Amino acid sequence: MRELLKKLFREIESFYGDKEFNIPDKLSPGNVKQKLDPYDFNNERPLPELFDEVVDLVKEGTLDVTHPSYFGLFNPSVTLESIVADALVALYNPQLAVWEHAPMPIGMEQQVLSFIGSYLFSEEDFFAHFTTGGSEANMTGVLAALASGIDSFTSEGLAGTPAPPVFYLSEHAHHSFEKITKSVGLGMQAVRRIPGDSQYRMDMGILENRLKADQDQGYRPFLVVGTAGTTSYGTIDPLKSIARFCRRHDLWFHVDAAWGGAAVMSDRLKPHMMGIEQADSVTIDAHKWFSVGMGAGMFFTRHPNAVKDMFSVDADYVPESNRERLHQPYLTTLQWSRRFIGLKLFMTLASSGVEGVTRRIEHQTEMGNYLRESLRSKGWEIVNDTPLPLVCFTHEKLKEQLHSTSKILDEIHKEGRYWISDVNAGGGNRAFRACITSFRTREEHIDAMVDDLTGKIAQEYSP
Ligand SMILES: *Cc1c(COP(=O)(O)O)cnc(C)c1O
Repeated sequence: MRELLKKLFREIESFYGDKEFNIPDKLSPGNVKQKLDPYDFNNERPLPELFDEVVDLVKEGTLDVTHPSYFGLFNPSVTLESIVADALVALYNPQLAVWEHAPMPIGMEQQVLSFIGSYLFSEEDFFAHFTTGGSEANMTGVLAALASGIDSFTSEGLAGTPAPPVFYLSEHAHHSFEKITKSVGLGMQAVRRIPGDSQYRMDMGILENRLKADQDQGYRPFLVVGTAGTTSYGTIDPLKSIARFCRRHDLWFHVDAAWGGAAVMSDRLKPHMMGIEQADSVTIDAHKWFSVGMGAGMFFTRHPNAVKDMFSVDADYVPESNRERLHQPYLTTLQWSRRFIGLKLFMTLASSGVEGVTRRIEHQTEMGNYLRESLRSKGWEIVNDTPLPLVCFTHEKLKEQLHSTSKILDEIHKEGRYWISDVNAGGGNRAFRACITSFRTREEHIDAMVDDLTGKIAQEYSP
């Protein structure tokens, strides 16, 4: 055991040094299977030896999303506190379904959620819980909206609704809502994707018209989803206008702030999130901009009764005296056996303090601004308008199709010094997309990327 733990310590220690970026070679499922052939599980293996092999396998076949030169999707560098917390959770394996099994872990989660929630809502009596991630939190939002807006939904289900329920979200909102609509039995017919305006924000005029048309045709609108930080462009829907719209039409207002939600912690960014405080429910992923390990979603709502209606059940094997208590997590969430998800955020907040946590968020915002400036000064054009650190950018040569993003990306990913991706920029063109998602990203990492890209675009394109 000691030998094994020493190896684990060394692995964690080396992780925090300056290390080479690792973009794995393209491995096919066949390549992977071949490398895993020796593990037929017929023989025992000494754990320390297995440890080394597993580390090598994982490194060989994993894109290192925690590296400061990973400018990709919303996968963060993780805090040391988060790593330690997950180890403790693995060790104690507390069960967070029933208060009596884990009163302190449940209390610690509630402490964190009350704190973060106080940056969202002004009132005290909101309700929140941790989820496996943003997808579950968004699903909880849709279910709570149904329980609250559709009479007898929890008893009769959709079969009891004379008018088919429908909901609205921008064309740039997250694809989890398609999975959700199919999973909860609404079907794809219920989804109303509203086109974005020139800045990729939900077009309120089109929303208004679509709602009216649906009402005229006998549909039952029940929900509008606003996104604060879209995946492709990092833009924020007009949350204040959506809130007003929802109030006027008696609709549930859910804000999907899975990535962008952490911005409410920053005095400088919070004004851009205004309107979120009027939401009926909010999704924020701690495993994105709060820099803790996956999966750690958070669901907030100002309507505890909606989640209670949706999730409360009778369980014979829970002692009767325990069933009616407040904070019985199993009565208010989809999960039963529930991992101690919140400890990594508890430890990160308690160790860094709110100032430290906010500083990491603002540092990444500043790096985003630095990236925009550097790109502009080297002849690139910024495509998206957002205060969040996600930058989509194009170039004359891309617009005139004298170069292609995919060819340059292939080269970049093969050379393996940094990682970016591309997005649709309209008119059949693609633009590059770079998101600052590591609190360890510094100007030198950005300079290296911008210089390299500028060199590549200057070269002649040979298809
Ligand atoms: C990441 C993300 C999701 C999905 O969350 P998971 O934690 O990956 O399930 C949903 N919406 C937005 C805006 C996201 O960024």
